[in-house]
Amino acid sequence: MNPLPRTSGSTTIGTLAPGRGVFCNRTLNLRSIKAIGYDMDYTLIHYHVDQWEGVAYEHTRERFAARGWPVQDLRFDPHSVTRGLLIDRELGNLVKANRFGYVIKAAHGTRVLSFDELRRTYAGTSVELSVDRFVFLNTLFSYSEACLFAQLVDLLDQDRLEGVLSYGALYDEVRSTLDEAHSLGEMKAEIMDDPARFVVPDPETPLALLDQKHAGKSLLLITNSEWDFTRTMMTWSFDPFLPEDMTWRDLFDIVIVSARKPSFFHDRNRLFEVTDPETGLLAPSSQGMAKGGAYFGGGARLVETTLNLTGDEILYVGDHLFGDVHASKDIRQWRTALVLREMEREAADLYAFEPKQERLTALMREKVTLEGEISQLRLQSQRARRHYGPPGEGPKDRKTLDREISRIRERLVTLDEQIGPLARESSELGNATWGPLMRAGNDKSLFARQVERYADVYTSQVSNFLHVTPFGFLRAPRSNLPHDAD
Ligand code: IMP
Ligand code: MG
Repeated sequence: MNPLPRTSGSTTIGTLAPGRGVFCNRTLNLRSIKAIGYDMDYTLIHYHVDQWEGVAYEHTRERFAARGWPVQDLRFDPHSVTRGLLIDRELGNLVKANRFGYVIKAAHGTRVLSFDELRRTYAGTSVELSVDRFVFLNTLFSYSEACLFAQLVDLLDQDRLEGVLSYGALYDEVRSTLDEAHSLGEMKAEIMDDPARFVVPDPETPLALLDQKHAGKSLLLITNSEWDFTRTMMTWSFDPFLPEDMTWRDLFDIVIVSARKPSFFHDRNRLFEVTDPETGLLAPSSQGMAKGGAYFGGGARLVETTLNLTGDEILYVGDHLFGDVHASKDIRQWRTALVLREMEREAADLYAFEPKQERLTALMREKVTLEGEISQLRLQSQRARRHYGPPGEGPKDRKTLDREISRIRERLVTLDEQIGPLARESSELGNATWGPLMRAGNDKSLFARQVERYADVYTSQVSNFLHVTPFGFLRAPRSNLPHDAD
């Protein structure tokens, strides 16, 4: 056996970077989990987003160029977008919403709207995820789509996209063309030809899965990727870090490719067995699934019956908020873990901002106190003017009150001058335009609301489970309510 590359087997919880915890919305005892299902792309395997999405963007852009669209100067900008934003198909905008669905930031095409434009456009609009108008950016695979759509909106506004009649029609074109790029072979061939360019190598994830397997858990791989892509990428990413007598296939009790999630969780798609791993030859499988097999299609209910498990005994780990986590929780009541790689950068930014955050909190506290005081003084001034008030309390001197009001007002102006730049900086953590994934100003973002609703736990990468161990008990913290003692 090869010595295992235990590069971080010795890393203990206390020394992990702040963004590498496993964060818990709903208490999860890993000892009661009998099977763990894994998504592959951006879950078991992490890609360099600028490379992967850069290629997806280019393949789509080239298709538009072939139609004669003037896209030759367009370039992929991975910083122009974050997960959790929404595309507004009706207005050609990208928006960020808070947990109530109120839009707190927006860009039309690539131009960020001013506060007044934002208010005029979205006052009275609440973002509903169930309506066609809004498309939620669920995954890192959404970056190329959103970036290209925004750039094409600019061209449409300049009347340079002949035949495109609306932003909605433009979105549909981007969606179907990107779909084509994903499903026709060229793009995947480019990635399979040079995995080193795309994959972030990670010796810890195979080790985390080995730990889980030897702790008696059944492991499943359930991916929407095709067999040849799955096989190539898993071999490249896992085999060098496994004991010599093992391949990635030995880790998994069942492998399911082309799973068609989210439909995998509510329908039973036709099931085929991969009978020849070399060629990917398929044969209809009338017998259902068996341990050790590799399959194409099928459905989640069949997984439960094959393993003789109920939904709460299965943990599914994936990066797609809707296709992996929302669907498996809502439809099959599986336990869920969302992989959010962006947490690491955001946590680092938040950590570095902490001293300024303390200052911001102190300034805000003073502002709130002064606002309370000025409201009281205004009320006293009103009562003095109108000659009324609580019984037994004489009227206050109006001049003294007005002087006091002016003094506080001046202090509030000074405070706002100090708060402004700090608040702006805080709203730019993680991404200069869109800010932190989970926050919308002081509130939670709509994305955070979806995460807390559907993901029992969330974490930046699968290997963070290494530190929790297969026996960990993840407890949700006591949640805050507005009336809690400060
Ligand atoms: P998973 O995350 O392992 O389930 O697999 C993701 C698969 O979906 C990859 O093979 C991607 O190429 C594919 N995919 C991601 N985004 C799109 C899309 O927009 N259209 C079609 N396929 C996609
Ligand atoms: Mg995925």
